[in-house]
Amino acid sequence: MKRRLFTLLPSLLLVAGLSAQQDTCTPELKYSENQSLTWEEAIRYYQDLDERYSEATLLEMGMTDAGQPLHLFIISADGESDPTEIHRKGNAIVLINNGIHPGEPEGIDASARFAADLLANKDGMKKYLRSCAVAIIPVYNIGGALTRSRYWRINQNGPEEKGARRNTRFLDLNRDFVKQDSRDARAFAGIYRFLDPDVFLDTHTTNGSDHQFTVTLIATQPEKMHPEMEQFFRNDMLKELYSRMKEAQKNEMVPYVQYTDRGEIRAITGFEEAAYYSTGYSALFNSFGFMTETLVYKPYPERVNGTLQFITELVRYTSLNHKEILRLRDEANRRTLEAKEYVIDWEQDTTKWDDLLYHGYRYEETTTPISGRKSGFYNHEKPYTETIRYYNYFNPSVTVTAPDAYIVPFAWEEVIERLAVNGAEMHQLKHDTVLTVETYYIESFEPARRATQGHYFNSKVKLRTVTQEIEYLKGDYIVPVNQRSNNYIVTMLEPQSESGFFAWNFFDSFLEGQDWYSVWGFESHLKELLDHDPALREAFEKAKSGDAKVATDPVAQLQWLYQNTPLSELEKRTRLYPVGRLMNAGKMSNPGK
Ligand SMILES: [Zn+2]
Repeated sequence: MKRRLFTLLPSLLLVAGLSAQQDTCTPELKYSENQSLTWEEAIRYYQDLDERYSEATLLEMGMTDAGQPLHLFIISADGESDPTEIHRKGNAIVLINNGIHPGEPEGIDASARFAADLLANKDGMKKYLRSCAVAIIPVYNIGGALTRSRYWRINQNGPEEKGARRNTRFLDLNRDFVKQDSRDARAFAGIYRFLDPDVFLDTHTTNGSDHQFTVTLIATQPEKMHPEMEQFFRNDMLKELYSRMKEAQKNEMVPYVQYTDRGEIRAITGFEEAAYYSTGYSALFNSFGFMTETLVYKPYPERVNGTLQFITELVRYTSLNHKEILRLRDEANRRTLEAKEYVIDWEQDTTKWDDLLYHGYRYEETTTPISGRKSGFYNHEKPYTETIRYYNYFNPSVTVTAPDAYIVPFAWEEVIERLAVNGAEMHQLKHDTVLTVETYYIESFEPARRATQGHYFNSKVKLRTVTQEIEYLKGDYIVPVNQRSNNYIVTMLEPQSESGFFAWNFFDSFLEGQDWYSVWGFESHLKELLDHDPALREAFEKAKSGDAKVATDPVAQLQWLYQNTPLSELEKRTRLYPVGRLMNAGKMSNPGK
């Protein structure tokens, strides 16, 4: 087709060809000159690799809020880009997500460098592909990346220009993994289901600390894993990654420095990852999850290099240990299908810690140059090394027993949509059906006073459990808890879960109730009711003699009567959490009855 056009329009095409060549020339990586790829450059960079190497495939995977598709780049030894086939051949898959916070672009440049080096077989790296495929999201938060400025992340030591933290809808995508308000997050979930990655890395920059390390690491909270996976993660995978960064890469890494007290660092604590963070999300699907957080004050080239070193070590480790990684995940996935007990909240174990060799800077007081206030700072002239405590053990604080299935009424469309996007298999009732289910009444909760991510987060939820018959409608969804997405299903549908749909206000409208009486005609109805129901009249008299407010306040009297007559039956759904828990699915053998 191109050739025919050329013969028809030689001169025109020559000009067009020249400008096209300029547009499509491969962007150079300039992180050593303190510059980061733009989104357009990153995509062109991967398009070029896709064209040059048969092992590489660039895919478009869903839409983002920026109106641009999300890209996924896959490298495998034989060019296979179907993850099911990659897994079937016994290979592991590593997924690297970059630019979730585009002001923290190390991973964007490091992944581009890594992909090019791997495909060019630099230092014999291609051998990793014998048992491992690498998938890269070049830039996740496209909207943020398109909003570039010198002034985002003002405290950060380069690059010269960087993107904004929030996406086009001003969402922080690293809080959006499970509630999925953004198209970005739903596209990401599509990628996650497609790939089913064994190992996952999300790349960031931290401004929460200052010390001698360049690379800090958040690893998935190990207790979230199935026990055999947890042992392997703590005692093998993490140990080896830390050791390789120190010995082979000469770039000692430290766990993410979450300190207990500002000032001299005496202890750091593990990261309690809610499911709405990236590694929290990956843990729901039994992946080994990581976030690199390189230190904001280190020069950009060093941060890119540190991220690149970690990516190299992670891919190397996955390749060398692919059999064990795949075996452990298979086992974890099998156990997930049968799991009944789910931990939906954790608390730190303050009695257990590991010793950690920490390379810090002494903390001193200073007077700041502009505002003249007293402030602490970490004195780079005074480095030190000390053994400190690292608290990285957690105990379950809220555990729930999952039902055989949840029932989500058809009406809750946004909930159904997200369950589907995250792989939940569901089926719909064929007829209106009365079912005996365990239900929750929301006794109390606290909505947040300020919005986060556009939500007034509900917390401190107290429940009352009642088993009762509920009439469900044709089309309502049965969500069995016997599937790969069990962790997502339970985490999102249990109202006490801090990441769940109730917490994020998806169900708030049910809290308002639905009907009330009008004072005008209500009393004549009540009189009729009381005249025909002596027991009710007696109870009413008793209430008046026992409760001063009911005795003296006409409004309280009407309210008492409303709540204690059959009228209130209509209101029995008030505060009744709409999702039912079917505890014995055996009785569901004929749900269409
Ligand atoms: Zn970040």
